[in-house]
Amino acid sequence: MERTFVMIKPDGVQRNLVGNIIACFEKKGLKIVGLKMMRIPRDLAEKHYGEHKDKPFFGPLVEYITSGPVVAMVLEGKDAVTTVREMMGATNPLKAAPGTIRATYGMDIGRNVVHGSDSPASAGREINLFFSPEELVDYRRDVDRWIY
Ligand code: ADP
Ligand code: MG
Repeated sequence: MERTFVMIKPDGVQRNLVGNIIACFEKKGLKIVGLKMMRIPRDLAEKHYGEHKDKPFFGPLVEYITSGPVVAMVLEGKDAVTTVREMMGATNPLKAAPGTIRATYGMDIGRNVVHGSDSPASAGREINLFFSPEELVDYRRDVDRWIY
């Protein structure tokens, strides 16, 4: 089973969307193996978004992601990375397909509610940045045989 890193961004927390967004992933069938609320330190934000450090939106992006608490999680399931990306929709909520999380809840590319890793390699990197191995819980769900 594949793992991916997902984060409800500060706007999602401020807008009381934590339960709704987690419910979307749970109802889909993804398994929560790590979950915590935290405030992201600036150095972690800069590492997490390191690929964008030369983009004009990097400064505002780091400001935004450190502006309030986030909910970080690790989700597990078959093709979890792609599944979460499809469920989130395009980066710009205006371009996101109807029914996706960003299309449903977002109004602005700079406030798009949720993050999900873009590849298995990114997922591994981001999970290591945000979670220590002891924070990830290995457990069996009997329901998995009804999902797969
Ligand atoms: P995604 O989150 O869909 O993987 P990117 O990795 O391209 O998107 O960008 C990371 C985050 O940076 C986006 O989710 C969004 O919050 C922000 N961002 C991306 N492009 C812009 C932009 N043109 N203006 C403002 N913020 C942006
Ligand atoms: Mg990205």
